[in-house]
Amino acid sequence: VSAGVRRSALDEAAAPDGLWFPIDLASDPALGGMVATNTGGARMLRHGDVRRRLLGLEAVVADDELSVLDDLTTLRKDNTGPGPSSWFVGSCGALGVVTRVAVELEHLPVERACALIAPSGPAATLRVLRAVESGLGPLLSAFEVMSHAATEAALDTVDGLHRPFPGPLPELVVLAEADGPIGTADILERVVAALADGDVADAVLAPPEEAWALRHSITEGLARRGVVVGFDVSVPRSELVGFRADARRLVADALPRATVADFGHWGDGGVHCNLVFPADAPPDGSERALARQLVFGCAVDDHRGSYSAEHGIGPHNADWWRRVTPAANRRAIRTLRDRFDPDRVLGHPGLPF
Ligand SMILES: Cc1cc2nc3c(=O)[nH]c(=O)nc-3n(C[C@H](O)[C@H](O)[C@H](O)COP(=O)(O)OP(=O)(O)OC[C@H]3O[C@@H](n4cnc5c(N)ncnc54)[C@H](O)[C@@H]3O)c2cc1C
Repeated sequence: VSAGVRRSALDEAAAPDGLWFPIDLASDPALGGMVATNTGGARMLRHGDVRRRLLGLEAVVADDELSVLDDLTTLRKDNTGPGPSSWFVGSCGALGVVTRVAVELEHLPVERACALIAPSGPAATLRVLRAVESGLGPLLSAFEVMSHAATEAALDTVDGLHRPFPGPLPELVVLAEADGPIGTADILERVVAALADGDVADAVLAPPEEAWALRHSITEGLARRGVVVGFDVSVPRSELVGFRADARRLVADALPRATVADFGHWGDGGVHCNLVFPADAPPDGSERALARQLVFGCAVDDHRGSYSAEHGIGPHNADWWRRVTPAANRRAIRTLRDRFDPDRVLGHPGLPF
């Protein structure tokens, strides 16, 4: 398809054949942008990111001839050497303009079911993750975790949402989703019922549109609560609990005006570590820089993680790219860029490569 086609349009075109493009997120990007940022989406745990689902592409580069790189294969197996399809994934628009892409679709699920779970705490959340992974196997399609602050902001400020549980909101709410053949909802129900009593304070099956409405309203809810300074980081799953505790402690000590309202794709180690400042006292440049230093440092230096789990590289994390990327890797990407964009006319001017 053309790189300008939006994800929703691709799904509409594929639906009559019972197919969809399963990289699914709370926005509707174009396929070219998804390649350039290597989008993962909320179901990456099951369906992978663009890197995994891209079969081939065509791109135009900004050399003297405006060369067209044609690597638009639709083959699943094609080992004919390194090529543009891998170079352009996550390239942040810096190597050329992707003009067409071939991606692998999936069969539409016959049955989809969601559970909302209140784990007894952060460590129990990881045990719940392992239990639903082993109980659902390949049916598990998403494992999203929402903090109290994030869930509350959505529920308080966005109309039409349902409170997941009666009584006070728990510290964390899990959205676990299963996609598959007829009977998937029954399997999910059995797996949730079998979760260890000590790990779960409450759990309900919820209509998928209701559960996802809550999850996808968090960004809007936080924006209505104050000024959001957001960071999309990732850590190994074994580090999630420690990262979360450390990041909260560091922010509370150094930026007491900020509330940490984290949520994200725990199933693949992703955390939207969002700091919300009061709207009538927004953060200044030095507070934003300190927040970035604290959260990125906590993820990268203390918990073996990444300062960019999503979105790629831009002016706000360019310094971290220079600091963390090995010198040989930096030289390699600059060499590619010298060849494809010698005058640096492509991508954001603040890119570090
Ligand atoms: C609400 C929201 C939720 C999100 N959730 C997730 C998530 O769950 N998981 C995840 O991984 N990401 C997530 N993202 C980030 C998402 O992956 C990117 O924002 C999106 O895929 C970029 O596509 P776009 O069409 O909006 O591109 P743009 O924002 O227009 O561009 C993004 C980058 O791609 C480059 N680019 C755009 N088109 C091309 C092209 N044709 N050729 C070459 N370069 C190009 C641009 O130069 C720029 O560097 C989310 C974003 C939003 C706004």
